[in-house]
Amino acid sequence: MSTHPITVHPARGFKANSHDAVNNPHLRQSFRGAMDFLMAKRAAQFPDHDELEALRTLGETVRQRCLAKLPQLLETLETRLTANGVQVHWAETPEEANAIIHGLIAARQGTLAVKGKSMVSEETELNHYLEAHGVQAVESDMGEYIVQLAGEKPSHIIMPAIHKTKAQIAKLFHDNIPAAPYTEDVDALIQLGRNALRGMYLKADVGISGVNFAVAETGTLCLVENEGNGRMCTTVPDMHIAITGIEKVVEKLSDVVPLYSILPRSATGQAITTYFNMISRPRQPGELDGPREVHLVLLDNGRSQAYADEQLRKTLQCIRCGACMNHCPVYSRIGGHAYGTVYPGPIGKIISPHMLGLSDTQDLPTASSLCGACGEVCPVRIPIPEMLMRLREEAARDPEEKVPHPLAGQGAAYTPQQARVWALWRTLYSRPTLYRAFSWLATRLRGLTPRRQLGWTEHRTPLTPAPKSLHELVRERQSRR
Ligand code: SF4
Repeated sequence: MSTHPITVHPARGFKANSHDAVNNPHLRQSFRGAMDFLMAKRAAQFPDHDELEALRTLGETVRQRCLAKLPQLLETLETRLTANGVQVHWAETPEEANAIIHGLIAARQGTLAVKGKSMVSEETELNHYLEAHGVQAVESDMGEYIVQLAGEKPSHIIMPAIHKTKAQIAKLFHDNIPAAPYTEDVDALIQLGRNALRGMYLKADVGISGVNFAVAETGTLCLVENEGNGRMCTTVPDMHIAITGIEKVVEKLSDVVPLYSILPRSATGQAITTYFNMISRPRQPGELDGPREVHLVLLDNGRSQAYADEQLRKTLQCIRCGACMNHCPVYSRIGGHAYGTVYPGPIGKIISPHMLGLSDTQDLPTASSLCGACGEVCPVRIPIPEMLMRLREEAARDPEEKVPHPLAGQGAAYTPQQARVWALWRTLYSRPTLYRAFSWLATRLRGLTPRRQLGWTEHRTPLTPAPKSLHELVRERQSRR
């Protein structure tokens, strides 16, 4: 299989990326159609509004209870998994997670890893890291396989290749899979992809997967999928490495039921997924298959920072269904790549600042009409619009201001010059005598107002003081009576 360099669109380039995207009619058409399709499928799964709201309340309650006990649940999870024979590793940063995984593969002189879908491994850029260290990592989820062949990143957290047309996929397969004919028949394309991947499971030294729910009570890793590739990755190779964020832990096995009941319905409009895998231990004596070693890598990458703040902690409730993206009028017009982050759309706007810092993502919270659709469809009731408002405020806050849990890059929307202007304005505004003297002077010197006023005049006319202040106008009117 040939590989290509990954296309990177940094979040700092969001404005330019989104400008290009809205001017791309093919991209807009394919996202519009796909999002309409997904919205209709989800709506069909929830015909009873009251039932939907009850399910959302239950989902929210379960996630909030588990998050409230997160430190304790993580300890329990580690104890149970270790007792079951699963080795647990902790990583604070993406670099640490990648180094742990590579170390495990290197210890058995592995050169080929087959991967199930994992957004956390996208977060750490694991494929890149492994390739750079001599390990080929092959994506086995069909959508992920397509974007890997194309040298791109996923444009949707559930449907990574949703931006690709049939013709583009046909060409990719024809160019990259030996002896693959050019065909735009969807079934034939899927078969070509499957055939190319099937041999990989048998040859791979290691299988890597994500985790949807990690159950502390039993030490069980739950994996939700539709293609069976997740089961192949976690059972065929001799070693299975799972990677997930620390927030994915739930307290009890019974907590999985309500969350699983809303996840596929919200994500793809399916009542249930084709596969639901529960992994609790490596192969036991007398068992004929399954990995001989199982590892779990738990990644922080900014999640502790979100956890420390009562409001932003709610971002950790997310079960990665993607419904907020499907219903977002901004995402459906610009697609996922324009965001320049692993997690695009509304969920990406609220979690990326923790992972990358607000200074690199300050434009993302502003890319919302605040229509509220994301918050209304979220199956675990994350108040996304409120959080966007909060992050906008954080970005525009004076960087000098002391706050209890400052976000990395807080005050990023301010240049030092702007911060000084606003500090001066605050001083004036809080002293009535000084403010009156300033207004008097400003109205007299209005002719000297600069035509360019930092970022304000990029899209607006300059702010110019009125010839007379309101007080003066009122006084004049009263004197005429
Ligand atoms: S924020 Fe809510 S709607 Fe969006 S991906 Fe997470 S759980 Fe799904």
